[in-house]
Amino acid sequence: MDKKYDPATAIQKLEQFGEFGGVNPSITDSATFTFLQEESMIKTFHGEMEGCYLYSRHWNPSNKYLSEALAALEGTEMAWVTGSGMAAITTVLLQLCNSGDHIVSSVTTYGGTYAFLANYLKKFNIEVTFVNITDHESVRKAMRPNTKVLYTETMTNPMLQISDIPVLAEIAHANGTQLVVDNTFTPMIFAPYQLGADIVVYSMTKFINGKNDAVAGAICASKEFVDAISNVNDGTAMLLGPVLDPLRSSNILKNLATLHIRMQKHSENAAYLAKKFKSIGLKHVYPGDPEFPQHELMKRMMNPDFGFGGMIAIDLETAEQAAPFMERMQDKGVGYHAVSLGYFKTLFSNSGKSTSSEVPDEIQQEMGLSPGLVRFSVGLDHNIERSYQLIEETLRELNYI
Ligand code: PLP
Repeated sequence: MDKKYDPATAIQKLEQFGEFGGVNPSITDSATFTFLQEESMIKTFHGEMEGCYLYSRHWNPSNKYLSEALAALEGTEMAWVTGSGMAAITTVLLQLCNSGDHIVSSVTTYGGTYAFLANYLKKFNIEVTFVNITDHESVRKAMRPNTKVLYTETMTNPMLQISDIPVLAEIAHANGTQLVVDNTFTPMIFAPYQLGADIVVYSMTKFINGKNDAVAGAICASKEFVDAISNVNDGTAMLLGPVLDPLRSSNILKNLATLHIRMQKHSENAAYLAKKFKSIGLKHVYPGDPEFPQHELMKRMMNPDFGFGGMIAIDLETAEQAAPFMERMQDKGVGYHAVSLGYFKTLFSNSGKSTSSEVPDEIQQEMGLSPGLVRFSVGLDHNIERSYQLIEETLRELNYI
């Protein structure tokens, strides 16, 4: 078996102390920084001097600690932290594309990403071609000389399709295009940069933070790219200012230290539910299921230490059937009827009516998104058997099984 990148050990190896020997780095609660010499300030402004901090929209020590840990997570040279996942995605795309450029994107992505690509980029005269990312021939055909970005999610939202990163990297690179991958659903499970992606983005709001108390994002990339986005003259991050607050960085850094254990438990619980759903003949989508179309591909690309992930979806066919099911599950205490994912409690929502509602109905149909799809982000429940029993009870009460 080939050796997979070990993100948990890479993070564990980091030794980041506070200035008084604290086992957690101190929080740098300052927007600006003093300089002893004018010359150092000028050089720092011009990117000619390392090690000094200028202003927290540019860099802050607390953000640097978290960035180092995220670079270790992906095995990239550097990372940069943003105030949301959307800030990470939009910063990367606006940095890589100029007016007149072209992007090829998976049609199944998070709804906000889809809206940015389909609607917002028109303002900048950036054209986007949407493709079925598992159909490599159509990806190849969509590439143009001015295609600057091939964009996908490793495990797509909400269909949970798996993108073949090595093949997509080959297609992109043959065209001089950068492969940008959103790995929000599968931190540690996949290491897209190791598989050939150029830039990896995250919504840290989800599994990485895991507490649902913060909105945050990350960009993991080369030093050259991170330097470029934070350049004072023309860097997208520096000039649009989507930086993460250092207090939040400090919290997320501590939560990152338990990510490996949480991912294992999310995966274990989701796999249990998938097995049970299968046993009662309930239509469901779970990449860990041997019958899932990209199951073998996932096995080839994944780090098996962390399982097949905590996301699972069931198909109740209509939104009218999904609504009472979700309301009753919440009443019974299965979890919360809420968007988002990666929380310690189970969250569920009807994707077509919520996180993919930005995607027009005909495109939802084209990508095979059922109007009754209920997506679960399975929590860290100690007693997942009990949670399943409550779900089954709800299905029976509504005569769905
Ligand atoms: N990427 C994916 C896959 C998501 O599911 C989301 C949000 O649901 C985002 C990005 C956007 O992240 P944020 O809400 O932190 O801006």
